[in-house]
Amino acid sequence: MSAAKFVYLFGGGRADGNEKMKNLLGGKGANLAEMAGHPDLRLPVPAGFTITTEVCTHFFQNKGRYPTGLDQQVASGLAHIEKIMSHTFGDPANPLLVSVRSGARKSMPGMMETVLNVGLNEKTAEGIIKATGNPRFVYDAYRRLIQMYSDVVMEKAEGIEPAEGMGVRQQLERELEKMKRAKGAKQDTDLSADDLKSLIRIYKAKVREVLGKDFPEDAKEQLWGGIRAVFQSWNGKRAISYRRIEGIPDEWGTAVTVQSMVFGNMGNDSGTGVAFTRNPATGENVFYGEWLPNAQGEDVVAGIRTPYPINEAGKSEHTAGLPSLEKQFPKIYSELHAIELRLEKHYHDMLDLEFTIEKGKLWMLQCRVGKRNGPAAVRMAVEMVKEKLTTAEEAVTRITPAQLDELLHPIIDPSREAGATLLAKGLPAGPGGAVGQVVLTANEAVAQAKMGKKVILVREETNPEDVEGMRAAEGILTARGGMTSHAALVARGWGKCCIVGASEVKVEMDNRRISVKGKVLREGDWLSLNGTKGNVYDGALPLIKAAGENPNFVAFMTMCDKVKKLGVRTNADTPQDAKRARELGAEGIGLFRFEHMFYGEGSDRPLFLLRRMIVSKTEAERRRALEELFPFMKEDVKKTMEVMDGLPVTFRTLDPPLHEFVPNRSDERERLAADLGISAEEFNARADSLHESNPMMGHRGVRLGISYPEMTETQTQAILEGAAELIQAGKNAKPEIMIPVTSAMTEVVDQKKIIDRVYDKVIAKFGLPKSRLPLIVGTMIEIPRAAITADKFASVCDFFSFGTNDLTQMGFGFSRDDIGSFVPKYIEKKILPADPFQTLDQEGIGELIKMGITKGRSVKPTLKIGICGEHGGDPESVKFCHRVGMNYVSCSPYRVPLAKLAAAQEVVAEAQERKPARPAGARRPAPKAAAKKAAARKAAAPKPLAKKPAPKRAVARKRPSGKPAARSARAKKR
Ligand code: PEP
Ligand code: MG
Repeated sequence: MSAAKFVYLFGGGRADGNEKMKNLLGGKGANLAEMAGHPDLRLPVPAGFTITTEVCTHFFQNKGRYPTGLDQQVASGLAHIEKIMSHTFGDPANPLLVSVRSGARKSMPGMMETVLNVGLNEKTAEGIIKATGNPRFVYDAYRRLIQMYSDVVMEKAEGIEPAEGMGVRQQLERELEKMKRAKGAKQDTDLSADDLKSLIRIYKAKVREVLGKDFPEDAKEQLWGGIRAVFQSWNGKRAISYRRIEGIPDEWGTAVTVQSMVFGNMGNDSGTGVAFTRNPATGENVFYGEWLPNAQGEDVVAGIRTPYPINEAGKSEHTAGLPSLEKQFPKIYSELHAIELRLEKHYHDMLDLEFTIEKGKLWMLQCRVGKRNGPAAVRMAVEMVKEKLTTAEEAVTRITPAQLDELLHPIIDPSREAGATLLAKGLPAGPGGAVGQVVLTANEAVAQAKMGKKVILVREETNPEDVEGMRAAEGILTARGGMTSHAALVARGWGKCCIVGASEVKVEMDNRRISVKGKVLREGDWLSLNGTKGNVYDGALPLIKAAGENPNFVAFMTMCDKVKKLGVRTNADTPQDAKRARELGAEGIGLFRFEHMFYGEGSDRPLFLLRRMIVSKTEAERRRALEELFPFMKEDVKKTMEVMDGLPVTFRTLDPPLHEFVPNRSDERERLAADLGISAEEFNARADSLHESNPMMGHRGVRLGISYPEMTETQTQAILEGAAELIQAGKNAKPEIMIPVTSAMTEVVDQKKIIDRVYDKVIAKFGLPKSRLPLIVGTMIEIPRAAITADKFASVCDFFSFGTNDLTQMGFGFSRDDIGSFVPKYIEKKILPADPFQTLDQEGIGELIKMGITKGRSVKPTLKIGICGEHGGDPESVKFCHRVGMNYVSCSPYRVPLAKLAAAQEVVAEAQERKPARPAGARRPAPKAAAKKAAARKAAAPKPLAKKPAPKRAVARKRPSGKPAARSARAKKR
């Protein structure tokens, strides 16, 4: 690395680097360079230089040694600062002080170290006192340096790990407290210059006593100590854990920025503050911020003093009486406001700014893209596109799935959650927040909810018969299960908060209580769930409403629709779900699971009839049951199609293993036997004969339609008559029929014959031309053999829909109901990167999908292809679906917006990959109207700111009366 450039200068209207160089200069260094040197900005930034992240990497690869030549480059950097700031580092007569700060390419707030006031010693302190006539300020800065330096450089960077409470910083804090007590001072600011001067002596002695070394007086030694400590802090405990959580690679390293100090605590004509170009909590386009006179930056952010609002518009009832910067220093405020406008226009985004006023002069210390919550992010994206500050393509890339999700569910108030104690952690199966009283059974959940109570249903795992309780509960918590477990699928479908697989939770049904790490909670005790993170908290935390159907959300989704190419449908099985999904933007139903009508509310009679059909012995018996079932089926499908109003609805013929529907309760068995006119023994014999060792691979899906053609016939008739009735009534209906669990093309041929026959009959019965009731028939591809022979399937299918729940199950040979017992270990041991039932395994299952698509389209180029497994709502998997050329994804209603966002983002990512890289430093020209908008805001700047203006696998698998014994047998065997 000998001839390389390690140090990038900025200040005095120029800079070596720019905002695009975050990888090399870190976010902070790159943005300082941009503010200082870009011809459109050239803002008042204290001069400085940034040592690159490459030096950090070299440092760690070479046992803490620096590359050759760094010392000369740092010396030139210092000379550059000295020249611009007209002070000299270490010069007692006219000293320069600098800060040494960290800065990774991605912001890691508070995770690494900073040293301020570097260059202060006995001699330079006297020099500054002479220059400023302010000994109190100088001694205060000096004692702060000793405190910070001894902690960061002499203790932490040396790897010293003191006992709890015995760190040098804490020991010095205690000396400060002692001094305050002795002097009767309430606040630090009550100490006099002399007090601080004696404190410095005490501090130095303490440092020597605790660390066995003197605080270095030499300015250069301080500087290099600071640089080393900042590099070391990249590998500090905090930084390492933060990187693990945020997925930041260890190899990135941090840059170090050395910058001239400016002081906001030099008296009443000084101050400091933090501001945002728009309100980060609401997204409102109004300059927002806080400041403090006569203070240093940390006083504002650390909450030591209550900061003041920056302007009149930002005043709240709590801050109404406090002085704003706008009123106190109108000239500085308007300068800052003008800078804020230029910066936002330049970056095309909301920025977070730090500034300091030193003796009446404004300095910009930092700018970066500001963090924001979901509702604010969406509002800003929409408004910035309207203002032509950015494009729709760029705006959709700024929203994360989690931010969009915030708008769809109530959430735990983040300010209260931050201080809450975590009770347990599980898988984040259903996003949002829920607060309620613990109940341990579904019946109790229903009963309590009826009494108006809010409950959290806590179960070891959920059974199909829990659905009513799950519906009634605010949230669901299970000790076992994975992301595609019954609880997760059902909850997600309903937009319900749900955490599964929280293995620390022990459910003790006998004692009607749960215990978590020794803490006991009984029924009636309060719990709070954060289903987005999988966090469980003791007690009731407040929920805040996220703005469900707010106009910004609608506008943002319209923007995604314009950008994306992939269709987004929903998996919905009831008119209610269909309605919700349409409100959330679904463009059709990609999976209507027929079996849904046999679960939950109002299902008693149809379920009874289905069971009668299942245990029937002859076709005649079965047909009688089906005839009675027919009106229920027709009613359900018709209402769903009516809600969808001409959008396509894919009906899947019955899929679940019939054994799931065999009643276990003796009273139900007796009732059915009586109805069929057979003995209890005969009934039991028939029911037991339906038992399967491995039902997931047993008598299910298309196999049912092949064994009992009358089942396919009745379902088809219900669908087509429902559609025909709607069409005759002047309404719209667009049915599609899909055959599940196929492995051979001949299965589809067999079923299509039945479907075609019924179709002709219905057309004739209603006297409709085929063009008014077109029907397409396709198959699910969810068995590897179907993917491998997709060309054959395509010759007889109008569409494919990848059922990736089963395709993953059968591709991996992992039972989707039992992954909880081993997949977490696989992930922990990095044998698999993620749960393949949550995020599509692109390497293996993805290849099967690609093969299916290629082979299918080789025979039928226009073959319509979608996905309806749970992966259809997972952003990464949606992106894959876009890339492999699917026509649509289908997911549960509440994931429709997320799928749309992912689909839009992937279009932008693809376009960016195709574009040649822009040369470093070149900016995308701002759209013209952005300039206009900025001009309008600028015109207003100096004036006071006016406020601008299913059961185990799925809902479909809900099994109404499975006895635990039978269920666990099934779970084991599948
Ligand atoms: C699938 O297997 O991906 C699918 C959607 O069907 P189900 O979950 O009902 O088996
Ligand atoms: Mg399936």
